[in-house]
Amino acid sequence: MKIGIMGGTFDPLHIGHMMAAEAARDTYLLEEVWFMPSHIPPHKHEAGASGTDRLAMVQCAVEDNESFRTLDWEVLRGGVSYTLETVRGLQQEYPDHEFYFIIGADMVQYLPKWQGIEELVQRLTFIGVGRPGTPLDLAALPGYIADKVLLADMPLVDISSTMLRARSAEGKSIRYMVPDKVFDYVQRSGLYGLQPGSAD
Ligand code: ATP
Ligand code: MG
Repeated sequence: MKIGIMGGTFDPLHIGHMMAAEAARDTYLLEEVWFMPSHIPPHKHEAGASGTDRLAMVQCAVEDNESFRTLDWEVLRGGVSYTLETVRGLQQEYPDHEFYFIIGADMVQYLPKWQGIEELVQRLTFIGVGRPGTPLDLAALPGYIADKVLLADMPLVDISSTMLRARSAEGKSIRYMVPDKVFDYVQRSGLYGLQPGSAD
């Protein structure tokens, strides 16, 4: 089975994440994409949602899609989430699966700095998608990494979770920038300064 892993903090999950997962699935005929929220160390950002809320948002977003699933490993493990540690565990648990790790252009550029990247490129293939603000330039990567990055085409989506947290804190609507069920969850739970029951 070819499995895509969509890692992130998903704080909140937005349509850029969903489109990246779908573009990778469609382009490389992945059987499933597993969304895996990372545990956020307390210092990453102050207004962030809890692991439980981030898992719940991901679950809301994927539940109607038979090809998408949520993986709670990193949130349950706590501490700093190292992809390598997770991938070792996944390959031990599912030795017959072939794993693909889906990332946006900002993360593609950052790959040389990933902890254990030498071992990661032995274990899986990355699928990179475009994202405004960072060129998707494989030539800028060391060859041993670039050789393990495939590209999937999708329309550029100029949305980030940081932008959504800021908009929400300013009282601006984030509706339709996140899946409807995620919007409902954010509103119901009063996350990101959104008042429970307010119209946007
Ligand atoms: P933050 O602003 O908090 O960093 P984010 O929008 O970058 O949030 P993450 O959870 O950090 O979201 O990202 C998870 C993965 O999804 C990363 O690989 C990132 O590059 C990718 N991604 C996020 N937003 C987009 C987007 N708009 N288009 C393509 N890929 C994206
Ligand atoms: Mg990010």
